[in-house]
Amino acid sequence: MNAAAEAVEGAARHLSDCHLCPHHCGKRRAEERNGVAQGVCRVGQQSYVASEMLHCGEEMLLQPAHAIFFSGCTARCTFCVAARFAFHPGYGLPVTAAQLAQRILQRQAEGARSVCFIGGDPAPHIPLIVATLAELGARRQIPAVFNSNFYLTSAALDLRAGSIDLYLPDLKFGPEVGPASCGERLGGMPGYWEVVTQAIDYGLAQGKRVIVRHLLMPGHFECCTLPVLTWLASRPALEVSLLTQYLAPARSRSAPTGALQMEELQAVRQLAKSLRLVW
Ligand code: SF4
Repeated sequence: MNAAAEAVEGAARHLSDCHLCPHHCGKRRAEERNGVAQGVCRVGQQSYVASEMLHCGEEMLLQPAHAIFFSGCTARCTFCVAARFAFHPGYGLPVTAAQLAQRILQRQAEGARSVCFIGGDPAPHIPLIVATLAELGARRQIPAVFNSNFYLTSAALDLRAGSIDLYLPDLKFGPEVGPASCGERLGGMPGYWEVVTQAIDYGLAQGKRVIVRHLLMPGHFECCTLPVLTWLASRPALEVSLLTQYLAPARSRSAPTGALQMEELQAVRQLAKSLRLVW
């Protein structure tokens, strides 16, 4: 068996015993109740794509990207702007590796400069992604990008090592731990900081290009932005992308409310400058 076939087989094992993220649902992924998979993300055996398009919302070097938005997510962010499909894994159309490969080739011919696997989160769909990239082989001439919350296990990163060219992780929340921490309270991801920073370091150790995104949230300078930027500055090999498009949800008990204030943006600018961060 060649390396690509081995990777496809290894990834497919997580369809019945899933350890792609720290929720470690194991065999629950393959169990269904009333047609719904019992893992935390509720993604079962079949991946659904909510939408795919040539997209200019990614970082400049990736544009236009062939953006593939998978349904389902390993996080539960209270301010998610993609809740329509992130929290509904059956939203959109079911796809096979062969179908997705064909669409990637089509978008490549139309001028896509990258193919970006996004969500929701792409982690539960790693079996399909690995199979799709194996199906494409040398016909894919554009870089493959994994755009994720990076709440991942090292097993998930190992599966993708040979097939992904660039990682685009989020580092949203600061290092507090416990139920009151931002990562757990706002994102639904226990142990957030340790898991995500370790996964980013692991991606770097694989020799990948890594561009870390940090979403600025109103009222979260001290708890999130300050420690995140300080940590990013300690790893010069990382590239940084700061996002300012936070949108407070109309209804949520715990999500940050309001909009970023000018003083907050100035504080971030000053901090980034003092840390010599460029984005
Ligand atoms: S990817 Fe989904 S099924 Fe797999 S461990 Fe994570 S939450 Fe559970």
